[in-house]
Order: sequence, then structure tokens, then C-alpha cells
Amino acid sequence: MMDTADFRKIQKKLYKKLDSHRYQHTLGVMYTCAALAMVHGVDLGKAQTAGLLHDCAKCIPNEKKLKLCKKHEIPVTPFEKENPFLIHAKLGAYLARKKYKVEDEEILSAIRCHTTGKEAMTALEQILFIADYIEPTRSTAPHLERLRRLAFQDLDQCTYEILRDTLTYLRQSPQKIDETTERAYGYYRERNEKRHG
Ligand code: FE
Ligand code: FE
Repeated sequence: MMDTADFRKIQKKLYKKLDSHRYQHTLGVMYTCAALAMVHGVDLGKAQTAGLLHDCAKCIPNEKKLKLCKKHEIPVTPFEKENPFLIHAKLGAYLARKKYKVEDEEILSAIRCHTTGKEAMTALEQILFIADYIEPTRSTAPHLERLRRLAFQDLDQCTYEILRDTLTYLRQSPQKIDETTERAYGYYRERNEKRHG
């Protein structure tokens, strides 16, 4: 398990790999993950690790992202080829394992689905997905105030509302709609309807 010294080491490495905007976002996600883990009874170290590494592949140029996937036999869908920024999630999970020595499958899976979300996420996966959206340096998304409050009260409801807002935003340019996000939205909409009747 990671301790404070490990986190410091990874932060140093990431400082060189990320631009300053992305680095500040990364720290924001890490601390937001930690706070959410405290409230929702999730392993603190795992949540921090997931937050710290979730965007480790974000600043690799798109061409190189595609090259690296090819080289390491990471499957890329035609949709991802069209929208290469999406690839940083699965490539990030790969690098977290290979370069940052993270072996925990739940952490790696949280990194893998942090951009699109997916159906039936674990609490850790939801925490990373939510923290990525609400961390303090974010300012442009709608309903941030509500979502930030909701994140500490109800993970399923918060996940649902973020997916809903994300799709509303993506629908402005329909060629960009990701079907993983659509499926995740359908899942959480139904889940919340069942809960609230
Ligand atoms: Fe990301
Ligand atoms: Fe991020």
C-alpha cells in the first residue's frame, strides 16, 4: 500500500509529465477523492492513488497516445480514434501499472473509466468520476454548487446528475456522444428511479 513518501515520489514524477494546469487539477482530484473516501467509508489510500494518477497520460500528444496503444496492444475503438483525448483513461491505467507500480485492480479500473463512467461502478470508481468533475479548480460546468454538496451525501444521485449534465453538453455536438456514457446514464437513471419511486 502507498504511504506519504510514495505519494510525494509520484507527485514529483507527475510534475514533470503534466502541464501546470493539469498538475493543479490532479492535486485537486486527489484531495477531493480523499475527502469523499472519508465520508463514504472507502479506502483512503486507494482513493488518493486513483486521484493522483487518473490523468497521468493526459499530456501525452494524441499521436503518441495512439502509438503507445499500438505498441502495448491496448485496444482502441474507432470512436476513440476519432476522439483521442478519451484514450488517456485506458492508457493512464496501463501506465499506472507499468510506470507507477500500482497493482490494485480496483484503482486501475477507476482510472480506466474516469472519463466516460460506466454501468454499476464501485464506490471508488464513482468517487474518482465525481472528484474529477467537482474538484476545486473546476469552474465552468453547470450546477457545480449542487453537485459538490450532493457528492458528500449521495454517490448514486451525484453520479446520475453528472452523467446527465455531461450528455446534455455532449449533445451539442452529437458526433461526440460516447455510448459508454449513454449506457452509464441509462443505468444510473433507472437505479435512481427505483430508489426514489
Ligand atoms: Fe481525465
Ligand atoms: Fe481529470
